[in-house]
This record gives sequence, structure tokens and C-alpha cells, in this order.
Amino acid sequence: MVVNVEHRTARIAQRPEPHRPRGSEVLLRPIEVGICGTDREIFGFAHGAPPPGSSELVLGHEAVAEIVETGPDATWARANHLVVPMVRRPCADPRCAACRAGRPEYCATGEFSERGIVHADGFMTECVLEDERYLVSVPRVLEDVAVLIEPLSVVAKAAEELAAIHARFGFDLPRRRALVLGAGPVGLLAAMTLRADDIDTYVFSREPEDSPRAGLIRALEATYVSAARTPIERLPELIGPVDDVFEAVGVAEVAFGALPALAANGAMVMTGIPEPRGAVPAELGRWMRDLVLKNQVLLGTVNAGRAAFESAIHRLERFMILFPDAVRSLLARSPLEQAPDVLVRARGIKDAIAIGRGQAARGGASTGTGGS
Ligand code: BGC
Repeated sequence: MVVNVEHRTARIAQRPEPHRPRGSEVLLRPIEVGICGTDREIFGFAHGAPPPGSSELVLGHEAVAEIVETGPDATWARANHLVVPMVRRPCADPRCAACRAGRPEYCATGEFSERGIVHADGFMTECVLEDERYLVSVPRVLEDVAVLIEPLSVVAKAAEELAAIHARFGFDLPRRRALVLGAGPVGLLAAMTLRADDIDTYVFSREPEDSPRAGLIRALEATYVSAARTPIERLPELIGPVDDVFEAVGVAEVAFGALPALAANGAMVMTGIPEPRGAVPAELGRWMRDLVLKNQVLLGTVNAGRAAFESAIHRLERFMILFPDAVRSLLARSPLEQAPDVLVRARGIKDAIAIGRGQAARGGASTGTGGS
């Protein structure tokens, strides 16, 4: 599935097959690739950039793949292993301490590349090369839900940053209470993460209280509050102060509108990326006053490194013990041919494109080798 940024077109294209893996390269056959808001923005030509020298970008950064062949210098990768590729690749600037330390998720120059997003082709294709160092091994038992690992890695990184912020106290909170903003895939994965850690969880979103997403949240033993019934200004009196706010809506008014619900010593982590638009009125004085007088922390987070991917795998294993039906109910799968349509109209809470063996396993027809 390629997007041409020059001609503003998108199509399923035939591309030459990659060469055989050299050095520590690994030849991958993607099984499934998830679709998120970032892909939809790229598909709408609002975001993304092709690899240098090309006008086309192969989409897809949330992949689960099988290893077909390994290069002679690969150390742990083996044919038939199930893997998930990480998304971001480091910049080349010798002064970027993060990238030089192998932590491009904290790249300071902005010159990184991200597969399927900026300056590097993605994984919505039938075969693709990747260096072994950017792959994370996945247990076979998770195959059915492994396409959730990449978005969950972003959530895991955020959750661990919140935990690190609370760890600075040197004392434990009697019982942590958290508020998730948004019931999209990231918000729901955040609610699962918090519930699996036994944190009292509220989810605030626009869907009505009798919607399937509200039901899913209640199945996690979390409390759902619909914006259709409760305006955000009433959240603090309805749910009381929360120690964590996990923002997953990408709307500044909602994120900052929830600040009054944050308890003293609380932290808000933001993961949503708002569309660029005009200035919004803000109570800057009140926020600053609260942040200082209540020792609060406001934090943004993007992308995820190896530790967060590994944490996501452990967390997903746990979810599959605690609430497997809720996890499975997130996913709706479609064949590669239908990717252009799915990119425009969501079919499930989390859409995934089944490719190659993934597609055959789900009863769909496979396309010719080299399709992207
Ligand atoms: C991806 C991240 C990426 C971010 C910004 C998200 O959709 O999950 O890996 O860093 O977009 O491009």
C-alpha cells in the first residue's frame, strides 16, 4: 500500500522483491499491519514523508511478521520466528545523545526516520527487509493479538514514565486512581494497562453510556463516563481527584480541561497529537498555580524503544489471562485489497490489514508477491 505525496494518490502497487538479506538483515513476511490515526493522516496527505529520493511511501508501522530468511551476521533471528519491528530509526547527528545511546524514542534533533511514517518505507507489503537489531521476538501464543504490540508499546512507555514520576516520592500511594481521556485503541489499551496493574480507572470519552466501548470498559471493571452526559467541567465532582491522567484524544481542550481533576502530586501524560489549528483560550495562570502548589507533572510522550516493546509483550500476555475477550474485541481484520477503504472508514475499534499468510489464515485470497 503506497502513498504518493507528489501526486497525492494512494494505491496497492507491485514492487520488485527485496534482495536476499545481507549482514544482519532479515527478510520478513508481514502477517498483519495495524492502522491508526497516523496512517489515516498520511493517507489524507496531512503527515508523513517518503524515503529520501522517492515520491512514494509504503504505509504501515504497526506490524507483526514472520522471519523468512536471515543474513549471515544475524545472531538470534531464525526463520519462522514471529517478530514485531520497532518504528523509529536513529538520526545521524553525533551530538544526539539519545540516538547515540540507542534510544531514538528520545531523539533530540527530529532528524530520525520512522518506518511507514517519515523517510522510511513501512510494512504494509508482502515481504520486506529489516535489520535484526530493530526486531523484537514475540511468543507464538500471542500471534492472534500481536498486532496490538506497537500501540501498546507507546502505552507501556507512558505508564512506566508515570510510575517513575510517582517513584520520586519514596512512599507508596494507598491506592492509585487514574483517568483515561478517550476510548480509542490507545485509550482502551491504557485502561487495560491500568486495570491489569490494579489501579482504579475511569475512562472519559464521547461515546454514549450504552455504547459497545462503554460496555468493554465496564468489562474491565473500570468506570465509564460519557461526555454526552457529563461535561468535562463536572468530572472532578463526579469522580474525585485522580493521581494520573492518561490523555489519548489529541484534543487540547479535553486534555487541559481535565487538569482540575488531577490530585496533588498527580501527573498527566499526553499521547495524542492534536491537528494544527488556531489558538485556544487557556487558563494559564490557574494551571501554573496548580502545577506549582500541588507538585503536579505534565508530560508528553511519543514512540517507544525496545524496553517498552518488551514490556508491551509481557503486558499483553497478562491481558490475555485477565480479559482475553476484551482484547480480541478490539480487532477488525480486512484483506490488503480493502486497505484503501479501511484507511478512510474504520471498521472496528482497531483495524488491521491481514497480508500473505495472515490473510490466507483468515480465508481471504492472497495477492501476488511484491505487492505493497
Ligand atoms: C506511532 C509512533 C510514532 C508517532 C509519531 C504513532 O502513530 O505509533 O511510533 O512515533 O506516531 O510519528
